[in-house]
Amino acid sequence: AKQNGRDNAQMFAEEMACAVTRQFAYEQEIGQGLKQGQFYLVYQPKVFQSPDQITGLEALIRWQHPERGLIPPGDFIPVAEESSVIIPVSEWVIDQALKQLAQWQQAGLDIVPVAINLSGRHLISDALLPYVAEKLKHYQIAGELLEFEITEGVLLQDIHRCIEVMTALKAMNIRISVDDFGTGYSSLSYLKRLPLDILKIDQSFVEECDTYSEDYKICETIIHLATNLDLVTVAEGVETAGQADTLTSLGCQLFQGYHFYKPVSPDKVESLLQQNKLD
Ligand code: C2E
Ligand code: CA
Ligand code: CA
Ligand code: CA
Repeated sequence: AKQNGRDNAQMFAEEMACAVTRQFAYEQEIGQGLKQGQFYLVYQPKVFQSPDQITGLEALIRWQHPERGLIPPGDFIPVAEESSVIIPVSEWVIDQALKQLAQWQQAGLDIVPVAINLSGRHLISDALLPYVAEKLKHYQIAGELLEFEITEGVLLQDIHRCIEVMTALKAMNIRISVDDFGTGYSSLSYLKRLPLDILKIDQSFVEECDTYSEDYKICETIIHLATNLDLVTVAEGVETAGQADTLTSLGCQLFQGYHFYKPVSPDKVESLLQQNKLD
């Protein structure tokens, strides 16, 4: 048994070493992919009531890997977040999205704000604020046209630093939303301490909001809470008209999901903005 135990310990150590090597190799590959232009952005519209009332866009990253094909962000973003490689990835997203907005603006389109998903590591880093300020200036984009989506877990890690950074972002007129609301820690005290604008109701509650009464009640409560705190609510992952109708009746203001749009290419955004009826 003792012999066996040692073997297991050794196997475990080898597996750990292997996992560390794998993580390291993956990080290297992400950095490499960035340099070689393997990443691109797609944009998912957020709408007011109907598809021709687009109020904003969410930038979502994609990785076209030369051998492994298209890798979804759920695969590599968590790996990138384990190390500092998330910062160059995230900076690339900010640069790319602002460059895109500037192009649309120059083409005479009626542009709408773009939301960018920000990982906690980047939010609390010293790098974010100077980078964003410089890029807004460089591309001549108003802060109102930028929004950052941040998940709840992040907000509780270092609340003081979050308050500091968010206050500076607000001073640039950048909007801040809480992503996947309701899935993180249950403390709600951060809602009153942070300068937030938007709550995004997680799609896990939206999925059965019109069939399962517990989810209905959760959506109702989140919307009620948001309204009382003067926050805008966005429902994400809306896939059916029934869900949209239910959420509308509860007072949800904005919608995002396959029922309206899947994430689309920049070209498609351009034609959608040309037909947009929001004023
Ligand atoms: P998220 O921010 O919660 O984004 C919503 C995800 O749900 C997206 O998946 C979107 O394509 C998908 N989705 C939208 N509508 C529907 C719907 O009606 N039904 C269903 N089933 N899914 C829907 P995606 O693009 O694969 O992104 C997954 C996650 O990866 C994002 O979740 C976000 O956490 C992260 N992510 C994506 N892009 C970035 C990025 O540029 N930076 C960072 N830090 N994270 C990113
Ligand atoms: Ca998001
Ligand atoms: Ca989300
Ligand atoms: Ca999510």
